[in-house]
Amino acid sequence: MMMDYQLTLKTILSRAKNIYSKKEVISRDYSEDFKYTYGDMYERVKKLGNVLEELGVKKGDKIGTLAWNNHRHLEIYFAVPMTGAILHTLNLRLSAEQLAYVINHGEDKVIFVDKDVVPLLEAIQDHLKTVEKIVIMSDTKEVPENNLKGEVFSYEALLEKASSEIEFPDLDEKTPAAMCYTTATTGNPKGVVYTHRSIVLHCFSIICPEALDLHESDCLMPFVPMFHVNAWGLPYAATWVGANQVYPGSRPDPETVCRLMDDYKVTLGAGVPTIWMGTYPVWEQGKYEYSHIRGLVCGGSAAPRHLIKGYSQVLGIPIIHAYGMTETSPLVLASKPKSYMQDLDEEEKINIATKQGLLVPGLEMKAIDDEGNEIKWDGTEMGELLLKGPWIAGEYYKEPEKTEETIKDGWLHTGDIVTIDQEGYVKIVDRAKDLIKSGGEWISSVDLENIIMTHPNVKEAAVISVPHEKWIERPMAFVVLDDEGKDKITEKDILEHIEPKVSRIWVPDKVEFIDEIPKTSVGKFSKRVLREKYVEEE
Ligand code: AMP
Repeated sequence: MMMDYQLTLKTILSRAKNIYSKKEVISRDYSEDFKYTYGDMYERVKKLGNVLEELGVKKGDKIGTLAWNNHRHLEIYFAVPMTGAILHTLNLRLSAEQLAYVINHGEDKVIFVDKDVVPLLEAIQDHLKTVEKIVIMSDTKEVPENNLKGEVFSYEALLEKASSEIEFPDLDEKTPAAMCYTTATTGNPKGVVYTHRSIVLHCFSIICPEALDLHESDCLMPFVPMFHVNAWGLPYAATWVGANQVYPGSRPDPETVCRLMDDYKVTLGAGVPTIWMGTYPVWEQGKYEYSHIRGLVCGGSAAPRHLIKGYSQVLGIPIIHAYGMTETSPLVLASKPKSYMQDLDEEEKINIATKQGLLVPGLEMKAIDDEGNEIKWDGTEMGELLLKGPWIAGEYYKEPEKTEETIKDGWLHTGDIVTIDQEGYVKIVDRAKDLIKSGGEWISSVDLENIIMTHPNVKEAAVISVPHEKWIERPMAFVVLDDEGKDKITEKDILEHIEPKVSRIWVPDKVEFIDEIPKTSVGKFSKRVLREKYVEEE
């Protein structure tokens, strides 16, 4: 028998501190780039552990972060779970209503907020039921000007006063470490809780050669937000292997991303397709060096063929296409040619890269058709992808009904329709869930339809996803007006009706008035017909 060793985040950070204390973390801060070593970071994480205790944080408390990708967020990523509390990363692109909902549902006790997103918190503060303390993060010790009520602290001032003497507790590996909410098909977002064990095992999958082959010699830049599935688990995995890390800070634009990647010789970047579409023309201009980049991990939405082709054939940078979900920590699939495929011609290699890829070691998958039968691995039959494994969610946080809908007979039903070819490469061909993914952020078509249908002159409304060059998908609304509204209500009226009720990215790009929404045999809106008729024809 082996030792009953607990897999916890303490192991990850200790290794970086003991073995790679000279390796660096760089963060684009408010006034200038900030740089320190894992050794320095460890000291600050210990201080933060004491700050949390001072703030009254106990084991099991939820600690919210409303923050960009930066070194303070990274410190919280470790200190909160290592004290036994739970890191709750808050998506700062949610609508005010959804943001208040997830903070209340998660019962966050303290919130750490970056100074430039404080207004988001101010706007919802009166609706928050559990938040006792707020810590503002900036590069100064003064509490930045704000209209927050209650106890408000400065992160840097708290850290300056804190002792770095602390013994982080030995936790059971099943202790919750972090949580993250994802948009539901309709209604409020649903939460997923990651344990120390699930995060550590997920790290193994990230670093293995079949996936990202992350190693000490890498310099990683997670562009994927730290409020999206723990930045795909990359901050933990990169720390574990002692890779240098670069964090792009507040609202980075493509030019800034390219500048940072050049300045710090980043070898591996990770982000949604929209970001790599944005950086492509900047690199093409030749202002920034990119020959040090060994790959760009691209996931969250399908990486378009022209993007993969442009990067590999024009810039010579391979795109590593990856797939996952909030519910899957997220890494499930990564697309790389097998060893015996190295002689394939360029086009065939690009075909492989457009697929979402091969199952990473440690998980099980199958795909089933409407009757529940497993599909053939022939690259043609289609079915819903089902998953199980140690970093796949077994339930939604305090949502038994949503759990029952999604996790059945021990399998997570992804809502993604796939084909699997004879080599095992999975391709996402459709989405069974009625959601639109725009620039990496979810939009619920059903919720948008319900909002549009509250307009007094709207009889019916259906929202579909239409392809978009930059955002990959955008919502388009089809509206049937009543007799009174016909020839009177305009696209502008509908958009003005929607705007105050949703976040900016949810507002459809186009509203088309039609006489009737096509229906299926059972009377449901047939979005397939709408797509065929109005989108695919264009
Ligand atoms: P999220 O929970 O926000 O990470 O979204 C997960 C969903 O995004 C998946 O169920 C897919 O529908 C979609 N998705 C993620 N990665 C990819 C990809 N590489 N290609 C196509 N869809 C993807």
